[in-house]
Amino acid sequence: MRSEEITGLGTITCNGQEIPYTIIYSNRSKSWAIEVKTDASVIVRMPQNIPPEKVRKLVETKREWIADQVQKYSSRPKISRNYTNGETLPFLGQEYPVIRHTGSPAKAEFTDDRFLITIPDDFTGPDQTALARDLTIMLYRRIGTAPLEKIIQHYAPLAEITPPRLRIRLQERKWGCCTPKNGIIINARILLAPEIVAEYIVVHELAHLRYRHHQKTFWNEVERLMPAYRDAENILKTDGWKFVF
Ligand SMILES: [Zn+2]
Repeated sequence: MRSEEITGLGTITCNGQEIPYTIIYSNRSKSWAIEVKTDASVIVRMPQNIPPEKVRKLVETKREWIADQVQKYSSRPKISRNYTNGETLPFLGQEYPVIRHTGSPAKAEFTDDRFLITIPDDFTGPDQTALARDLTIMLYRRIGTAPLEKIIQHYAPLAEITPPRLRIRLQERKWGCCTPKNGIIINARILLAPEIVAEYIVVHELAHLRYRHHQKTFWNEVERLMPAYRDAENILKTDGWKFVF
């Protein structure tokens, strides 16, 4: 069955503030849910054939929670990177300076504990930043492989599994996932976090290769492999939004 999504818009008012929301109708799900994204936008997911009036009433029941979340996310300082001189970039818990040159070809490299970024002079303004960001993400995916592989090689025997194939990708939401054929995909953003967080995400995915769920047996395995995993989870909960390119 093809699932069709019809989108609508609505607003709720809380303390005199109008909060817009987007409605996504879906025939895949029979339950409804509200999500406030980290950019403070509000998404309401509804099963199809719920009349607009009913949608509005359901959203109203969560008004205070929505307002709190929106407030929380909109009061966060924005992480804005220009990938240029004077800035530093975190890599597994350490900050390294960025040195930017004009030249060609466009490239980013990590040498002598510095990020060296070269941008051709025909790029200007926002295009420069966008290119520098893309090059930096590619660089992170390259230089992130060795430390993440090291974590895999350490934990795979402890987890009694064959070391999986590692891929590092930039993802919006998920920190990691595993593939059906003994592979794990780790979000490049995790390389902006302290090492213990990256370690935990790898351990979490390794444990999933045996336990493909989040039941007690899975969490017992995570704890057996990495007793301090909750520290890493707490860092993700409070600081996860900062780990962005
Ligand atoms: Zn999981």
